Amino acid sequence: MEYKQIVDNIKMIASTLPPNVLLEAAAKTRSVDQVRAAIEAGVSIFGYNYVQEAESVKTHIETNVHWHMIGHLQKNKVKKAVQLFDMIETIDSLKLAQLVDRECVKEGRSMDALVEINSGREAKKTGLFPDDVESLVRAASNLSNIRITGLMTMGPWVENPEELRPYFRETKKVFDHIAALNLPNVLMTHLSMGMSDSYRIAIEEGATIVRLGTILFGPRS
Ligand SMILES: *Cc1c(COP(=O)(O)O)cnc(C)c1O
Repeated sequence: MEYKQIVDNIKMIASTLPPNVLLEAAAKTRSVDQVRAAIEAGVSIFGYNYVQEAESVKTHIETNVHWHMIGHLQKNKVKKAVQLFDMIETIDSLKLAQLVDRECVKEGRSMDALVEINSGREAKKTGLFPDDVESLVRAASNLSNIRITGLMTMGPWVENPEELRPYFRETKKVFDHIAALNLPNVLMTHLSMGMSDSYRIAIEEGATIVRLGTILFGPRS
């Protein structure tokens, strides 16, 4: 889509979201110009799947927006990620949380992070199985420079987005369970779930961040 079309389109979609739901642009493959259009439309969170791509776009953006890592974070990219991102949504092991914490100590900053849940319990997908979330969050709560502020899930690939509802619902259950533990240094604020074809369902099931790409910018070429 062209600049003007993106601005109008995003404003229209944003106006339909409940006030407690944050719109995150999943910006993979989008040009700097398209990102600028999203900023003009009021988007303030940009999610990237790769450290490198976020870096190359961010150098061209002067506006103060928030940059989120939404792809699998490789351990050898942690240092760069800590320098670039405001939030990492894809913490899926204690080891990774520790590495992020250690880099944050070196950089003299702290990092908000979400734990990624493999809600479909798929063997080849990233993210923790729902039953493993509590022990990771408990352990991560002892780290000084990373703070768990919620959960993120993708859900399995399904034919009909309605089939994602049980996975979103289970992720929300885990979210509520962790919140009720009242762990120190853990703030269950964000539940990041839902993409272009499923965000309405995700919102019905409790999402507070929706990650939208196609519906904002048009299909990826
Ligand atoms: C690409 C992507 C999205 C958005 O997908 P669309 O179907 O284009 O809305 C959301 N989350 C993640 C992790 C992505 O990689």
